[in-house]
Amino acid sequence: MSSPYKRVLLKLSGESFAPAGQRGISMEEVVDIASQTIKAQKLGVQIGIVIGGGNILRGAQFTAGARSIQEATGHYMGMLATVINGLALQDALESLGAETRLMSAIKMDGVAEPFIRRRAKRHMEKGRIVIFAAGTGAPFVTTDTAAAQKALELECNILMKATRVDGVYSDDPETNPHAVLYEHLSFAQVREKNLRVMDSTAIAHCMEHDLPILVFNYRTDGNIERAVRGEALGTRVDS
Ligand code: UDP
Repeated sequence: MSSPYKRVLLKLSGESFAPAGQRGISMEEVVDIASQTIKAQKLGVQIGIVIGGGNILRGAQFTAGARSIQEATGHYMGMLATVINGLALQDALESLGAETRLMSAIKMDGVAEPFIRRRAKRHMEKGRIVIFAAGTGAPFVTTDTAAAQKALELECNILMKATRVDGVYSDDPETNPHAVLYEHLSFAQVREKNLRVMDSTAIAHCMEHDLPILVFNYRTDGNIERAVRGEALGTRVDS
């Protein structure tokens, strides 16, 4: 077997859809991620993707005195942003020959299938790359939490968080040249050191259910495939 995993949950942040430091959707970036994902799937692994929406908007941006838009409304707007990204990713994957399904946690007939756990598993077993949009369907959390929940309910072997940096550092590597990259961390260390691996609800879910997390840099070409092969890269968090 060319991968140690049967089923993988890949978390892509919305930022991965925009050029560095920019917002919106660049189809070049989306096609690049789609192509890496297809190569990884060809290793014989079932892949589900939880997509973020931060390249369009995040609910929390409506907290600062913006009385005209309530924070909860902002979170729903953020969830809808993930659906927009999901549609882009779906087309990019299909333009490269993959079979896909887009499932939404918020009912949106005509755009995406409703999320139904058994159906999602069946799609993945049939070799379709399944994109999960609209997060958990509930406000005040992020798509990290959605990724942890989906990974657990779909019995994935690992949650892979694709980021712009090489993994989890002791400090911000962009401002501190002495920041050290951790190759391995326990859940307890993540909590003790207050490291920002994923949001705290997501970490709690993974820790409680012993679901390993891999944080790695998707911008190095081939890294999604390497991660799925089980090669040592990025930071692995487990118990
Ligand atoms: N969101 C939410 N509930 C969820 C998932 C997401 O309310 O279950 C909202 C939240 O406002 C979040 C936004 O959608 O900021 C976009 O998701 P996220 O910030 O996780 O995107 P990413 O940072 O991964 O691009």
